[in-house]
This record gives sequence, C-alpha cells and structure tokens, in this order.
Amino acid sequence: MLIGAHVSTSGGLVTALERGTAVGADVVQVFTQSPRMWRSPSHTPEALAAYRDAAASHESIRATFAHATYLVNLASGDEELYAKSCRCLLENLVTASAIGASGVVLHVGSHRGAGLGSVLGQVRDAIERALDDAEDALGAPACRLLLENAAGAGGTVGRSLDELAAIVDAAGGDPRLGVCLDTQHLWASGVDYSSLEGADAAIDALDRSVGLERLGCIHLNDSKVPLGANRDRHENLGEGEVGAAALASLLGHPAIEDVPAVLEVPGDGDGPRAEDVSAARRILSDGVAARARARGEGAGGR
Ligand SMILES: [Zn+2]
Ligand SMILES: [Zn+2]
Repeated sequence: MLIGAHVSTSGGLVTALERGTAVGADVVQVFTQSPRMWRSPSHTPEALAAYRDAAASHESIRATFAHATYLVNLASGDEELYAKSCRCLLENLVTASAIGASGVVLHVGSHRGAGLGSVLGQVRDAIERALDDAEDALGAPACRLLLENAAGAGGTVGRSLDELAAIVDAAGGDPRLGVCLDTQHLWASGVDYSSLEGADAAIDALDRSVGLERLGCIHLNDSKVPLGANRDRHENLGEGEVGAAALASLLGHPAIEDVPAVLEVPGDGDGPRAEDVSAARRILSDGVAARARARGEGAGGR
C-alpha cells in the first residue's frame, strides 16, 4: 500500500513534490485552487505541464490526487450556489487532469435535510456534465472523480456507502466515477472497524455497495470525535478516538493493499509530517501482521 500526504502548493504546484518527498510520502494530494474560495485557478499552461512532467518522472512520488474545493455543493437547493458549484467542479477536474492526477476527491455536498432522493437527479447531472465538459475542454479523458464518504453532519450526502452507490447507480455506473474512503468520516458515521471482524464487515459493505474496484484512494486519519459523532474532525494517527490498533485492522485488509492511503492529519498544525507518514507505515505493517496471525490461528491444528 502506498502512503501519501496532503501537502501545500504554496510557491507553485511543483513544490508539492518536494514537500511530499520531505515527509517520505509515496503519493501527494493537493488543492489545485484555493479550497475555501470560489476564485478560479490561476496556473499557467506551463506550470501545469511542468507539474505533469516532473510528477511523471519523479523518483519517489508515484501518484497525485487533487482534493476539490470545499465550497462545492452539488446538492444545494440554491440555484446560484449550485451553478457556482458545477463550474468549480469543472475547473477542479480540468486542472487535476492537466497535471496528470489520478483522481479528484469530492465532497458531494449537503441537502440540508431534504433527503438524498430529492437531490439525486441534480447531483448526477452536475457530475456527468462536469466530466463531459472537462473532456471537451481537455480534448482527452478526464481523471477519475472520487466521491468521498461523509462524517454525516447536517444532511451531508455520502453519510453511508449506500448513498455513494446510489449516485453511481444514478449515473448508470459511469466508469469515470470512483470513491474515496475516509477512515475518520467512516468512524464518525458510526462504522466500527476496530476488530478484524468489524473491518471485514466494513470492506464487505463497500464491496456490496459501490464495489471495491471503484475504491480509488483512502483518506487515512484518526478522529477527534467518538464513533458515530457525525463530525468531520481529523486527528493524528494513534492520538484519537479510533487509535492505531483499529486503523491497523482496517488498513491490513488484503482487499485494499493496492489502494493508496493519503494522510490528512493536522500534524503540528501544518499537515502531515515525516513522523505521521512513519506512523502510517507502522500501523500498516502491524495490520498486515495481525491478519497473518489471525490466519495462522484459524488454520491451527490442521
Ligand atoms: Zn475530503
Ligand atoms: Zn474530513
């Protein structure tokens, strides 16, 4: 499993590769535009090409993911906000594709209590149109759009994997769609994966709903809030309510070993540090070892 880190692009997109390398990551995740502003991205075509070329030949960074602007709300009942969200999603997709990203991770948004059923059509239309328009703008395939599971606050879409599956189904199973599974959001939405059996059940539920083949990346975070608290609050690995052992039981699952896991932990306040990436690798190897031990015990006596 590749381990990644969300890193800043302050000073230019390509600086993300240096920051990722400095913390020992295999993968980086970036914002391609200001995450909390509607301002369009300002990268020159040269800067985009420079990132794509540097990333493609990089000696340690193997993949890049882009995280979409947080303001995007494809489930909004406000026409202006919806229109802005559609345009912003398109910009995110075009830029991410231009830098050779493996996917754009998206928080679908919030219906503010109206229910997923009442916004499913507008969410599907927004996603399909953004992907189509991005391909037209690029004259080439766009990168995958990865719908992220939500912690479940205030009518957020994606509070369950079934909700993400409903969107994929509404889009006719569009192969351009995938999902991103955030371990903190999963915990906050009430899924207890602290035992190997619990982790197995969580992975089975993912496979039965959206299908494992759609899992494009994992967001690997501990949680400041307890199981089922429905709030999006990341904590450093092993320092939160999930804990290292629970994260290990999930991370060591063999079905997800080829899926990159990207840290979005606070670190000291500036995001993932080298020690956070090391902690992730330690938790992963503990998880793999726990699985091997459990298999050995299961086969005991034969
Ligand atoms: Zn996210
Ligand atoms: Zn989060």
